[in-house]
Order: sequence, then structure tokens, then C-alpha cells
Amino acid sequence: MKKEAQNFGTIAVHSGTGADPATGAVMTPIYQTSTFEQESPGKNKGYEYARSKNPTRTSLETAFAQIEGAGYGLAFGSGMAAADNLIKLLRPGDEVICTNDLYGGSYRMFMQVYAPMGIRFHFIDLGDPTALQAALNEKTRMLWIESPTNPLLRVLDIAATCARVPAEVIKVVDNTFATPYLQRPLELGADVVLHSGTKYLAGHSDVVIGALMLNDKDLYDRLYLLQKSCGGVAGPMDSFLCLRGLKTLHLRMERHCQNAREVAAFLQGHPRVATVLYPGLTTHPGHEIAKKQMRDFGGMLSFRLVGDHTADAIRLLERVQIITLAESLGGVESLISHPATMTHASIPEAERLKAGLTNSLIRLSVGIEDAKDLIADLQQALA
Ligand SMILES: *Cc1c(COP(=O)(O)O)cnc(C)c1O
Repeated sequence: MKKEAQNFGTIAVHSGTGADPATGAVMTPIYQTSTFEQESPGKNKGYEYARSKNPTRTSLETAFAQIEGAGYGLAFGSGMAAADNLIKLLRPGDEVICTNDLYGGSYRMFMQVYAPMGIRFHFIDLGDPTALQAALNEKTRMLWIESPTNPLLRVLDIAATCARVPAEVIKVVDNTFATPYLQRPLELGADVVLHSGTKYLAGHSDVVIGALMLNDKDLYDRLYLLQKSCGGVAGPMDSFLCLRGLKTLHLRMERHCQNAREVAAFLQGHPRVATVLYPGLTTHPGHEIAKKQMRDFGGMLSFRLVGDHTADAIRLLERVQIITLAESLGGVESLISHPATMTHASIPEAERLKAGLTNSLIRLSVGIEDAKDLIADLQQALA
């Protein structure tokens, strides 16, 4: 890209390209190499060994920075590798305040890997300023926000929450569900944005990849040192796939949002559906905040069936024909899952019910198919 582009679609299409002056290749080549020839010891063309730097990954990291409006981007082998890189900034005794309905994989890493090493995690309702105030202390080093959350689609006021913690606390927003097309955490006061690029950024359910985007140079230097030292980097093929996916992010998100709106309206009117959790519905408790901080309401929704029986949920999931029963989200195809028996099965029942993850709760990642086919599929599965 020769000129600074102002609008998201243009940035997305051109992000990270123009990386190959040697050949003029319009699309970034897949540099499937681990090492780079040196002219004399230490004298090279900017690349030495692919754990430190690889040109395809460099293009993706540039693209990551551009789409989030950040100064720097880093690409990892998965969203969890990106999260891991961030937590490695901390030392024993340090504390992290997180949202209480955190992504399950982040919760597992925090509690099973890092809590035993002496890092302390507080899981609280970040929408409650008193609870946040009570958890804050001189050992607080990091604030970890998700919005909308998984699978209950809770919405948190990112700007207000970031403003409630001291400047020296690193404010992280996991922007996986919203994507930079819909929500811009760095403009709302966040220091670092995290993505599971596996989901909407790559967008085609064909790669596992992660991202960090940020503006602060010192923090970037520390994160880059961790990335090259610990090695959780994205490979060239995966970087290429994600670069390709990014070019259509805005188009896909528009259709995801439109379809989710139509599917949510259908479900809300269905006699067998008890509740629909979608920030785009005016009845959703986070609707007004979502309207303020998001461009549109996203492609994720959850719903509960009348009577809240596990068997009814399972029956529906076994009967869908176009929608695929699978974990993950954010792909072009619609994916449906049952948190109680799949992603959240390890949570004790009483705790799970108390958290709102009831027996019939079904999560739907609405894809970019034709909405009427998705609605017809749900209609026959609910019959
Ligand atoms: C999937 C996901 C992650 C983890 O990303 P991986 O690419 O699976 O490692 C983190 N946060 C959220 C919100 C996710 O959905």
C-alpha cells in the first residue's frame, strides 16, 4: 500500500501486502524456509532464522497492526500462544483481574499453568465498579477484558472499565468475538488487543493462529523478546492463510451480522425458544453499550429452549443439516455447539447453572450462508 488508507475495507484488502519488492508478487509469498543466507557473519537482509522473523509472518504482523489501527502486531501459533506470551510479562506475586465469564481456554491456562507459578487471578463481574475497586491493589499488573463474552454474549463497557484502573496496569482486550471491524479496543483505552485469529480474522476454519496488537514500543519490545525466546510463532503457511482471510473480513462481518440479526429474530419468535442472547436485540441488557462501542452486533448468539432440558438441546443439535455441530466459531459456515456437554462440560453442574450455562443453552456462530436456509434448518430441527 503506497498511501495511507483511511477506511476499514481498503485497509483490510491491502493490509500486509507489498512485501516482496524482489519479484513484485502482489500477494505475499509463503516463505517456507527456516533460515536465511548471510553475506558475511551477521550481515543479512533483515532475516536470519525464522523463529525470530519470517517474511510471511512479518507481512501478517504488519496486517494485524493495520487492521486494529495499532503501531505493532505479533503473530502466534494460536490464540492461546498469544495469551501465554502476555502472561509471561508477569512475575510470581503479580495479580490479574479478569472478567468472570472468561474464554474457557484462557481460564484453564491461568489456573492450571500460571496460578501454580504464583500469579494470582481474580475473576469478577467487571461491569460492577465496586467489585473491580475491591479487587484492585498495588500488585495488580493486568486487566483482562472480553466483550461480548462466550457463550452468554455479555457486553462490557470497555472505555469505562479501562478508565477505572491505574495507567500502569496493562489493559488487555480479547477482541476475538467482535473483530476490529466492529470494535476498536485501542481507541477505547486498551493497551493490548488479543485475537484468536483462528476465528473471524482467518475466517475459514482452516488454520489455528493468534495475534497481539499494541501501540507502546517498550511493551512491544518485551513481547517480541518473549515471542522469539519462547517460540510460539505462526508458521509461514498459516500466516499466509490468515493474510488471505483478512482481506474479506469486512465483507464477511457484514453478512455475519445481517444473518445473526435475522436468525435472532426468528428464534425470538419461535414458541420452543425461551431466551435469545444477542446484543443486537433491544431486550439484551448490553444492547445500549454495544450500540455505543460496536459498529454492529456480531455473528455470535446463544439461546435456551423452553423447559431447559439437555435432551431437547441434543436433539436439536443432532437434527441440524446445514449448520455444523462443532466447537469453534467465526468461520464462513455456521457452527452450533452445546456448552453444557462440550466446551464447559468440566465445570461442576451447580456452578455451571449458577453461571447461566443452563442445560439447554445452545451457542450458534452464524455463518455467511443465506439466512433463509439457516432459518429453515433451525425450523425443521426445532419441529
Ligand atoms: C478460541 C478463542 C481463544 C483461543 O484461541 P486459539 O486460537 O483456539 O488458541 C481465545 N479467546 C477467545 C474468545 C476464543 O474464542
